[in-house]
Amino acid sequence: MIKQVKPVGMLMGRLPKGGDLLEELNAFCGKENITAGEVRAIGAVERATLGFYNQDTREYEFHELDQALEIVALVGNVSLKDGEPFVHAHVTLGDNQGRLFGGHLAPGAPIFACEAVFTVFQTDAPFVRALDEPTGLPLWDMK
Ligand code: ZN
Repeated sequence: MIKQVKPVGMLMGRLPKGGDLLEELNAFCGKENITAGEVRAIGAVERATLGFYNQDTREYEFHELDQALEIVALVGNVSLKDGEPFVHAHVTLGDNQGRLFGGHLAPGAPIFACEAVFTVFQTDAPFVRALDEPTGLPLWDMK
């Protein structure tokens, strides 16, 4: 279930203030034609929506954090879903007391500031997401 990938380059940039964090990450990959890779970022958002996948109901539960937060860490990967570059990212966010919240990054996080680093991979075969029956999630098809 593991395939070798080869790092072939890195891109580093700042995402626009006011843009949606997840949408901007996806748009960046589309613009730069990144179809396999890794992303890391730090910065701040004006608020956020985080997902938690309920393994029993097989549905995401979303909670909204309606406050300014630091992006303490964002880590994610880039692959293909429905033929388009798709970023799957998880974030750890910190409030003004240093308390941390974390989860699956969903749309609904306006960027205050964000510095992102992408590592671009070359792969023998593309990483494509497809529905995985045992989990109900769109995971990589490793066949
Ligand atoms: Zn996730």
